[in-house]
Amino acid sequence: MPSRYRKRSLLDFQKSFATNETCINHLANLRWDEGFACPRCGHDQFWLLAKRGLFDCKQCRYRTSVTAGTIFHKTRTPLIKWYWLLFHMAMNKVGVSVADMQRLLEIRHYKTAWLMGHKIRKAMADRDARYQLTGLVEMDETFFGPRGKRRGRGSEKKTMVLCAVSLYRDCKGQERPGFAHMRVVANASAESIDDFLDRLSCAAQSKERRQLMEAIRSDGWQSYSRAAKNKNLVHYKVVLRDPKAAGRLLPWIHRVISNAKDVIGGTHRGVSDKHLESYLSEICYRFNRRYWEKELFDRLVRACVTTQTVTYNEIIRRPSATRMSFGS
Ligand SMILES: [Zn+2]
Repeated sequence: MPSRYRKRSLLDFQKSFATNETCINHLANLRWDEGFACPRCGHDQFWLLAKRGLFDCKQCRYRTSVTAGTIFHKTRTPLIKWYWLLFHMAMNKVGVSVADMQRLLEIRHYKTAWLMGHKIRKAMADRDARYQLTGLVEMDETFFGPRGKRRGRGSEKKTMVLCAVSLYRDCKGQERPGFAHMRVVANASAESIDDFLDRLSCAAQSKERRQLMEAIRSDGWQSYSRAAKNKNLVHYKVVLRDPKAAGRLLPWIHRVISNAKDVIGGTHRGVSDKHLESYLSEICYRFNRRYWEKELFDRLVRACVTTQTVTYNEIIRRPSATRMSFGS
C-alpha cells in the first residue's frame, strides 16, 4: 500500500506551499479526505472559498472554517506561516528556537510564535499518546535544570524526568530501539513509576494490534523492582557500580536522554519545569519517527488536523512540576 505521506525536501516543500491559498487547499483536502459532511445538514458537496479558508455547503450555504476543530482553530496567523513552522519543527533534528522562527516568519509578537510552537507540540504529544510500549522496555530517570546544582535522586533544584524506550530485535538479532517516552515526575517512587507504566502500556491502540509490555530493564533502584512486581513484569536489573557506565549498560535510554539534553540546553537554552514535558514530547515525537524522516512534515500536519487546539491560558495554567504530587 503506498504511504499516504509524501516525502518532501525543502525545495519540494517550497514549491508545493508557495502561497497561503495552496496551504488552505492542502488543509481542506486533508480534513475531508474521507468525504465532506456539512456540520449543519450533512450534505457532501461544498465550494471551497480558498482565499478566506471557508467551506461553503452547496445545500444549506452554511460556512465552516477549514481550521475549525484543528490545532489552527481561530488562528489569525496566515496558514503559510504555520506550514513553514511545521516544516522546520518536523525536519530539524535539534528543534527550532522560537525567537529565530518569529524573526524568519515575520510573526509580530514573540508570544504568538511561542504559542504556535506549543500548539504544535500538543499535536505531537496527542499523536504519541496513541502508541503503547511493548516487549522489553529500558527505563531510567534523569534530571533537567540549571547546571552545577546537586544531582541524584534527592536533588531539589532540578526537575526529574522518567524515560522509557521499548526495544526489539532486528533480523540479525541486534537490539534496536522502538518508541521512546518521557514524563516529568515529582519523584522516583514506585507510584510514579507505576503510573508511568500505566500510561505506556494502556495507549489507545487498536485491539487486534495490542501487544503487551513484558519486561523492564533498569538500574537496581527499589522502586523499579516494586513497580515491576505490581505490574507482573520481568525485571532485568543492571548493576551500576560506576554511574559513568550507565551509558554502556542502558545504552538506548542514555542515547535518548543525551539527545534530549542537547536539544533542551542547546536550541532552547533551558526551559522551565512547567513546560519541560511539552518540549520532551517534541523530542520523542521526532525520535519515534526517525525512519520516516522525509515524511515528517506530512505526518505532523495530519497530527495537527486530527486533534483539538489548546489556548494560551490552558498552557500557562499547567501545574508546575515541583507542585505535582505522585504520592510520597
Ligand atoms: Zn449544509
